[in-house]
Amino acid sequence: MPNTNDRPVRYAERGPDGQFLPPFPFDPVWLTEATRRTVCKVVDGVPHRKYTEFYAVGVYGGIATACSVGCNFRCIFCWVDWSRDWPERYGQFYSPAEVYSKLRNIMTETGFRRARVSGAESTLCPDHLCEILELVHRDADAFDLFVIETNGVVLAIEDGLATRFAGYASRNGDTVGHVRLSIRGGLPETFTEKTGALSESLELPFKAAERLWNAGTSFHVAVVVDPRFTSDEEKRTIFDRLKDIDPSVRRGVEEEYLDPYPHALVRLRAVGREDVSGPEVSEKEHRALGRKPCS
Ligand code: SF4
Repeated sequence: MPNTNDRPVRYAERGPDGQFLPPFPFDPVWLTEATRRTVCKVVDGVPHRKYTEFYAVGVYGGIATACSVGCNFRCIFCWVDWSRDWPERYGQFYSPAEVYSKLRNIMTETGFRRARVSGAESTLCPDHLCEILELVHRDADAFDLFVIETNGVVLAIEDGLATRFAGYASRNGDTVGHVRLSIRGGLPETFTEKTGALSESLELPFKAAERLWNAGTSFHVAVVVDPRFTSDEEKRTIFDRLKDIDPSVRRGVEEEYLDPYPHALVRLRAVGREDVSGPEVSEKEHRALGRKPCS
């Protein structure tokens, strides 16, 4: 479904009556296509993607990270900076070879053997990502892990992508790739509250999990179990659905609790979640707000 308001999808806000302001809720399939036009492009036959930065970070025991631009969800607790909401204003285009080389340089400098594509939604430009995975695969001895972080929308709408990933991230253990699939909600209303997306798109991440399982892809599911966002009932619903795919998928769940990063605080306050953001605007929230583009 297109965005009939013809307005860019930035971050969710609620009006005085508590309803989402347009263009929320949005169709994430439509937003996938719209965001791709901004963050993916082919240059001389090579698929490029926008990134804001490349850095080393302590999670996963130390990992080189490529921070991609653009997402097809608008989670209210999202920690990503304004490049998520204004992808046209942030980042530069890089080829797969350039991304790979930057990650390898960071690995050499730090001694890390792990890398990932993170930041926003890593799968928005699948050909670009698969070329990076191919380069990693050819140099697999240098890695003990390469993580693809995703919300599953693209995996659900593009036939064959889970199988393509399985070539680089196989459950047989002969590859270094691994998919971390985030599932944000299990009940229609709260799924929309959390992601800003139409309630029917709740099915997409579960479809992605099913496809990854059926394709033999190495993956695990991360679920926000933070009680400020997910009730026991919703948690049970999510876990039961994962168990239906396979009990091992349920057993492998990574339980997520959320930290109040600066941009998350702005987004939470905009939807009236002062129970999480706090009644007063903190200095770090104020700074994030000050960096927000004007339109
Ligand atoms: S899926 Fe991840 S990157 Fe996208 S909006 Fe949600 S938290 Fe942010």
